[in-house]
Amino acid sequence: MNKGKLFVFTGPSGTGKGTILKEVLASDDRLRLSVSATTRGPREGEVNGVHYWFLKKEDFEAKIAQDAFLEHACYVGNYYGTPEQPVNDQLAAGYDVVLEIEVQGAMQIHEKRPDAVMVFVAPPSLEELSDRLHGRGTESEKKIAARLATAEQELKYADRFDYVIVNDDLQEAIGDLRAILRAERCRVAHELG
Ligand code: 5GP
Repeated sequence: MNKGKLFVFTGPSGTGKGTILKEVLASDDRLRLSVSATTRGPREGEVNGVHYWFLKKEDFEAKIAQDAFLEHACYVGNYYGTPEQPVNDQLAAGYDVVLEIEVQGAMQIHEKRPDAVMVFVAPPSLEELSDRLHGRGTESEKKIAARLATAEQELKYADRFDYVIVNDDLQEAIGDLRAILRAERCRVAHELG
């Protein structure tokens, strides 16, 4: 029986979900971020084992074969996945765990762990998202176009989530996530069936 709660935090690339989470994690001792594995190369300042586990494609595929991921997906040409064991260990230790993942992975978690709390972060508009991705300056024009096309698809899934946060004001969005965590921790568990 898990002691902690599992939270899934999803939204198109560039919606600011990383920034929101970073703020909330910094002030929440009960919440732990799952470190994902990926085959994409590190961006400047990203540290192996902190931001991601950076794996070669063949190593990632070996882990898929070993069933080591709670979920995994291919996103804009690279693999991303959540190593299962650390998540289970943290939950068993009584921490709440948050996964910052894209939509396909989120839907896998929804199936596998129906008790997971699903939170979607949406940009105010696709135009705004495009401005943010360009402003970030970390990707080529081609990659940005691919991320925007993916974002348009991802937004269609928003209504399958328990909560949607529209990030047009960062401080409000941070407050929304804190409120969701607080409410979910007060929720009474009812057995189904
Ligand atoms: P980025 O390359 O910008 O770090 O991440 C690209 C997308 O992959 C983001 O939407 C991010 O949330 C998602 N992502 C990161 N880790 C995982 C993971 O473990 N599984 C899945 N399915 N998506 C992930």
